[in-house]
Amino acid sequence: MTLRSVVAFFAHPDDETVLAGGLIALLVQQGIAVHVVCATRGEGGELGEPPVVPDHTRLGEVREAELRCAVETLGASLTLLNYVDPLIGPDDVLYPFDADIGTLARQFVHIARQRSANLLLTHGGDGEYGHPAHQLVNRAVLEGTRRMLPRTLVYTVAASVPNIEDRLWNQSEPAHFALDIRPWAERKIAAMECHRTQHALFRRRKQLRTVAEALRTVESVRRQLPDTHGEPPDDDFARLLRTAGAWRP
Ligand SMILES: [Zn+2]
Repeated sequence: MTLRSVVAFFAHPDDETVLAGGLIALLVQQGIAVHVVCATRGEGGELGEPPVVPDHTRLGEVREAELRCAVETLGASLTLLNYVDPLIGPDDVLYPFDADIGTLARQFVHIARQRSANLLLTHGGDGEYGHPAHQLVNRAVLEGTRRMLPRTLVYTVAASVPNIEDRLWNQSEPAHFALDIRPWAERKIAAMECHRTQHALFRRRKQLRTVAEALRTVESVRRQLPDTHGEPPDDDFARLLRTAGAWRP
């Protein structure tokens, strides 16, 4: 088997770029088709600073356009699943979108089959910083793959890399591979530029002035399926990553 087609499933617009923009650009550069599936339009998220839209009524529409821009910039294609991202609650409480996990898994599997995907990418089981929508997508991909796509490779992103501090690492999932994505940084930064409503959010965390400064230069993955039984993964994605300069932390 060689990698031909990858389906990457995320919860919100910008997750694809922030968590996997460099990896997606690498795959596309290798001639591999990458299809991004996004569950929601990020309707509950930030309006921008200064606001790009006056209120939440049009945010989904604007963020959909931002997502299309980013996915096109990365060289991938896109399906939106039309789930609705709930507003962030008081004290910044995060909520999952309302979905039946079995239905979500079947929708994802249907797209993966249509695309003849031989690699699936998704959120980590910790939901990165504990986002319940990310965790829901992770569970749907793992359940759907186990039941309906046996032997298909599933890697999760933002696996934790020792000695690199990042609030997005999934602490319970140590990385199998970490990659310095600076060779693909230009693409990732251009995709980040598309997500205008989220720029203040990207910058705020580290008190930065520009979006480019907020770039994460290391992206990481962990193989979830098929189980490697504690052995280091040795599959087509693992080989591609090693060729691209990835290391095993
Ligand atoms: Zn998200």
